[in-house]
Amino acid sequence: MKKVLITGGTGGIGTAITKEFLSAGYHAIVTHNYKSGDKIESWLNENQLSSSQVTFLACDLTDASAAQQIFGELVQNHQIDVLVNNAGITDDSAFLKMQFEQWKSVLETNLFSLFHITQTLARQMVQNGGGNIINISSINGLKGQFGQTNYAASKAGIIGFTKSLAQELARKNVRVNAIAPGYTNTPMVAKLNDNILQAIKSNIPTQQLADPAEIARTALFLVSDISSLTGETISVNGGQYMH
Ligand code: NDP
Repeated sequence: MKKVLITGGTGGIGTAITKEFLSAGYHAIVTHNYKSGDKIESWLNENQLSSSQVTFLACDLTDASAAQQIFGELVQNHQIDVLVNNAGITDDSAFLKMQFEQWKSVLETNLFSLFHITQTLARQMVQNGGGNIINISSINGLKGQFGQTNYAASKAGIIGFTKSLAQELARKNVRVNAIAPGYTNTPMVAKLNDNILQAIKSNIPTQQLADPAEIARTALFLVSDISSLTGETISVNGGQYMH
């Protein structure tokens, strides 16, 4: 059975990606940042999944040495076919008011955290003759966004990382692609107040937020049998930004 590792696999988009790959017959390994096991139980119940379908890995991805150890041990026991670097946070503020901590935590969570997990799994994929890496970027990494210098920098960084790694791994049969979701209907966006949300929707040609399941189907599409599809960033944003 093929295996997919999804970081932040219990979040809004992560849950949809996990379910999509499970439906396609994969076993899912999901990282989470929960401090207690209760949340895992309720996540399984809410999503009508059983613990045999998903392996859970507790990991604060900003703890580089822990991540190095956790993923190093993981590859001893599991052969991973697909890595989805999905975990991410926002901590918005106009740049002139931004605290260094906000800058640091967003860059560490969204970009720096990709180092150990991707290096460890990419080495395994090369050894095993191939694989797929999908990095979740954002529309705001492409177009920038007021109040998100930290977030946009991290998500633009992911696109540069994707293009460079795709070139390095192409001859090893490992494909590396990114998805740049537009505003998507998840808890991250639910934090926005109603006025802002209405303003956002009115700027989207489809007049609607993306559905997490649409991002998930794009991820599954990226791992389909298209050997030349690498180094690409696919936008799923209702036409809000075209590049
Ligand atoms: P959620 O907040 O629902 O999920 C984020 C996930 O990241 C959670 O599972 C969370 O784990 C995990 N995470 C955060 N920090 C850490 C950490 N330090 N260590 C381990 N895991 C961590 O967000 P979304 O599902 O909306 O976002 C998923 C991805 O999609 C993100 O990269 C986001 O930037 C991107 N995106 C989202 C858009 C949107 O509109 N929603 C638009 C464009 C891009 P836990 O809950 O256990 O803390």
